[in-house]
Formats: sequence, structure tokens, C-alpha cells
Amino acid sequence: MGWHLACCCFPQGWHLMADIIATCGECGTERKSRPNREQQPKLPVGWKRLEAKIFCGDCWRQRYSLRALIFPVVEPLSGTWKQLEADLHTMWAETTEAANWMMTQLYARDVRRIPGIERMPPMKWLYLYPEVRLLFPNLPAKSITSLEQTIRRTYMAMRCNVIWTCATSLPTMRYPQPFPVHNQSWKFHFDEGNRPIVEARIGEHRWELRLKGGPRYRRQLAGLREMTVPGELMIGKWHDGTIWCKLVGWLARDEDTTNGTGTLRVRTGKDCLLAAFDERRSRLWLENCDHLPRWIAEYRRKRLRLAEDWKAEQRPVPTFAVRRNTFVRKHRDRMKSAIQEAAAHLTNFASRRGYAVLEYDDSLRWLKEFPYAELEKRIRTSTEERGIQFVKAASSIPAVPEALEAQTTEYFG
Ligand SMILES: [Zn+2]
Repeated sequence: MGWHLACCCFPQGWHLMADIIATCGECGTERKSRPNREQQPKLPVGWKRLEAKIFCGDCWRQRYSLRALIFPVVEPLSGTWKQLEADLHTMWAETTEAANWMMTQLYARDVRRIPGIERMPPMKWLYLYPEVRLLFPNLPAKSITSLEQTIRRTYMAMRCNVIWTCATSLPTMRYPQPFPVHNQSWKFHFDEGNRPIVEARIGEHRWELRLKGGPRYRRQLAGLREMTVPGELMIGKWHDGTIWCKLVGWLARDEDTTNGTGTLRVRTGKDCLLAAFDERRSRLWLENCDHLPRWIAEYRRKRLRLAEDWKAEQRPVPTFAVRRNTFVRKHRDRMKSAIQEAAAHLTNFASRRGYAVLEYDDSLRWLKEFPYAELEKRIRTSTEERGIQFVKAASSIPAVPEALEAQTTEYFG
């Protein structure tokens, strides 16, 4: 066991600290770690603690799957709409400002590209939390931690394009940015009418909000009932003014439902959205989505023309800004529902045929400006909900030879 000198940010100053070992209570995997304030081991990334038992990342994911459930707020129970809006406004305004501040700081303190350097140097670790805490005292500490993680992830994903190739500009987070609430600051229950109620601390007050239920939210409600380990709560507002709550948490995986057999191999196509094959590489199922390239082309053309008009008008805020925002939103909504539909079709097919595993490969990209990452996320969620194991293919699933493809019967689920 090694000894380290470490600064713990305690007022006492420096401490002599020993390594301690984090051990997974399931498989016994050991990892060197540092003690936290309660002298328990700090958990490595991906590890979880549940009622004093420690799980390694693999064991945790075998037992629990992450779900995000979005509900509109129907009514505030512990105050008026006006008071709720006022409390939320403070949080949204500070969250938005803090998010923009962190994003610009990450950019400003990052490296600059100068001639002679060929490779982009790695990002220096920046700890912005103490500064954000001072600048935005109304935001709860845990909300800042969570916001910092989100912003850092967003920045890292686009860092190369922003500082190196200069292909994109730094994004601006618009009001209202969803307000994150830490898992210890919120809980939920069902009332006598079986309607979902969420309790959360917003600003100075503790709020009870009734969420939308009913048959349209059957799937979300079933998920909420099974949510064993709550994670983060986000409160935001849609453009139509509806306040929503996104409840993120871990659901216990139902081991008994996995009674299917075989692997369904799914890949994105070079002239279709998705195709599914069996283990003998015969195509079983196809989702063409021929309307998608048309939508994307239409969107690209319109955006280009508006950009030209904007240049011609030479004003910081063009007169057609509202129109442009509406059409950007419309396009985003269209893409979202196309993704949901394709994922539902695929999962229904896999479940009807009784597959145990779905192997996914999205190395082929038919559409240039399509959110393939979102598609994968959605398919992962919907298959796991049905008890089908989702596996990302290690190598790309080979395309089917033409002759073989012609022989196999196509199945349109
Ligand atoms: Zn383990």
C-alpha cells in the first residue's frame, strides 16, 4: 500500500493519505482508490454504490439499465403557477449563464493552434467548480457539478472542430437551459389516484409537482414504477411554454424476460436507414425511410437560402429569425419522430421473432446530416426495455452479396 501526499481542499490544509481498495461486492474486482470524507473508497468512473454494497461497472450494467422518462407538469401542488415560474426562472437563468460561462472559459483557457504544431495537444484539466460556485451562488452545489460534467462533455466532443479545424463555432446555450437536480434533492411517489408526483428543491422552496399520467404515458409510468435507483432530475420548458420534468434513473433488468434465442444482426445501410440479418446473413427486415434524404435536402436548401438573406440584410438580428427558429425546430422534431418510429419497428420485429441479442453496427452512413448517435441510443433503450440484449458490433457486419440478397424474401414488419 503506497502513501501519498494529497491536498484535500480541507481548511486544515495538507493531509497524509493512504490508498484504499474498492472491491466489487459481486465479482470481487479490486481497484486502487482514495478515501472520501467518510473514509469510504471513492468509486472509480462507472462504479456504483447501493446500500453500502459496491458494484463494478460491468456488474452494475448487468443488473440495471439507465432510463430517462419525460413528463409534462400538470399542476404545482405546493404553490401557484406564478410562484413556480418565478422560482424556475431564477434557476433557468443562472443555469443558462453558468453553462455559457463554463463553455467560454473552457475555450478561452484551451490551447490555440499555432503554425508548426501538427497534432492537437490533449486538453489540460480545468477545475471550474470553485469559480462557478462564487459567480452563481443561487445554484445548488450538486447542480453545478452535474452541469460542469455536461458542459465539459459537450465541449470535448466538439473541441477538435472548434479549436483545431475551426469548422464550427462555440455553441451558445439559450434560455431556458434545463435545471439539473441532484438525486438526493428529489423523489417521486404516486398519489391515491395513481398519478405521479415529483418532489424537488427549486431555489428556496420545496416543490411538489403533479406530472401527466394517463394512457398516453403508459410506457413512462411503467418505467417509473420500476425505477429502483433514481439519478438526476431535469426541469425544463418547451417552446410552447409547457414545463417538463426528465427523471433519470436505473431500472432493474428483468432477467426472466430474456428467454429468446439467437442474434439479430442490424446495420445501417448505404441506401436505406436500417437492415436486419440473421446469422446466415440473409436479410430479414428493412427500413428504407426514403423520405429522410428528401427532408434533409429540403432543410439544407432552406437553411442556405436563409443564410444568404441574412447576409443581404446585414443586421445582427434578422427579421426572419423567428421563422428560421421555427423551421429548425420542425426539422429536429421530424428527425426525432423518424428515429422513434424506426427503433419501434425494429424492436417489435426482434421481439416478435424472439431474439435474445441485437447486434448493432452503424459504420455505414447513408445520410450525411442524420443524428446516427441518437438512433443508436433510442434502439438501445427500446431493445433493453423488451429484455433484448443490445451489443455494439466489434467489427462491421459485412454487406450481403448481391445474389444472396436477391434470393432472400424481404420481410416488412
Ligand atoms: Zn463486478
